[in-house]
Amino acid sequence: MNWDALREALSRLCIGVPRRAEPLRRHTTLRVGGPAALFYKTRDLEEFARISLWAHQNAVPVFIMGHGSNILVSDKGIPALVLYNACQGMAIGEVTYAETGVAFRELFLKTAQAGLSGLEFAVGIPGTLGGALVSNAGAYRSNIADLLVELDIVSEGRRMRVAPDWMEFSYRDSRLRRPNAPPTSLLAVRLRLKPDRRLDILRRAREFQRQRILKQPPESSAGSFFKNVYDRALAERLPNLPAPMRTAGVVPAGYLIEACGLKGYRVGGACVSRKHANFLINCGWATARDFDQLAQHIERIVYETYGITLEREVLRVGDWDDLTERA
Ligand SMILES: Cc1cc2nc3c(=O)[nH]c(=O)nc-3n(C[C@H](O)[C@H](O)[C@H](O)COP(=O)(O)OP(=O)(O)OC[C@H]3O[C@@H](n4cnc5c(N)ncnc54)[C@H](O)[C@@H]3O)c2cc1C
Repeated sequence: MNWDALREALSRLCIGVPRRAEPLRRHTTLRVGGPAALFYKTRDLEEFARISLWAHQNAVPVFIMGHGSNILVSDKGIPALVLYNACQGMAIGEVTYAETGVAFRELFLKTAQAGLSGLEFAVGIPGTLGGALVSNAGAYRSNIADLLVELDIVSEGRRMRVAPDWMEFSYRDSRLRRPNAPPTSLLAVRLRLKPDRRLDILRRAREFQRQRILKQPPESSAGSFFKNVYDRALAERLPNLPAPMRTAGVVPAGYLIEACGLKGYRVGGACVSRKHANFLINCGWATARDFDQLAQHIERIVYETYGITLEREVLRVGDWDDLTERA
């Protein structure tokens, strides 16, 4: 790709100036990641749609980025146009309209102030609404998919309004996380919320936040690195698994990692948190490769010990050609 020529062409569509070789570690919560071939921050929904259409119609690889809190970007960077989504329009009501660059927490605060319940679980989840939709973000038995009414998207060069089914949501998953997903920009959504007393909404959110502060390490991370494991047989044979989890047939990935004795295990500057074994943290000098190798080590040990293949919640993105493919 001739990225200088593409930058010229893109500049004609943009309000601001696209940049070459922007280091992505500045934009990820793991604080790792090499450069974007082209980088542009958009704050305007029509511009976001226009650039997405142009990229799809001209076969320009495009990567939509929110707050980078659920991605592991390769040290070699992303050989694509990285569109940083900062579109933050909102219209609050029982059916709330929100553009996908809005911070998930901000959306919770605005709706809670208006006496609308549903997003309490979002209070401690960093990132944008767009990133939340792609991974069906959730906590405390609620997921964003449960609230969704419809989405405005650009997919494969067409601007459309689609129903939630289009996303094929499941636990921490949607079709946009899968290999060969159609190139898609999520532009805006409508969410259905329930009227409730403001004080009750804030009390619930405060309790969730309190539990989070107790459990989560403060260092740079991408939250839970692996998905929890839904396996009833495994849940029944594990000693010390809390009863509600055994009943639900769910085993936290952190339980398995801790039981393998991996708390504190380190590769380069990437380390398994001692506070929460499913949080891989940056000791300050980690590379993306350190995180990937640490994750591979965990996957291998958990498989050898329990016969379980852990699935990553954090998405590995960019150019990983120099590394052996994961099993
Ligand atoms: C401390 C901490 C705690 C966390 N706790 C939770 C938790 O409790 N529950 C939970 O579910 N997650 C949690 N996370 C993970 C993360 O915050 C969420 O997945 C978040 O929703 C990701 O949003 P983002 O904007 O950072 O997405 P990014 O990391 O920027 O992107 C993630 C993926 O979404 C795609 N994407 C983003 N926006 C768009 C768009 N508009 N259109 C198309 N594709 C898009 C990207 O291309 C990428 O593939 C936590 C993370 C941290 C650091």
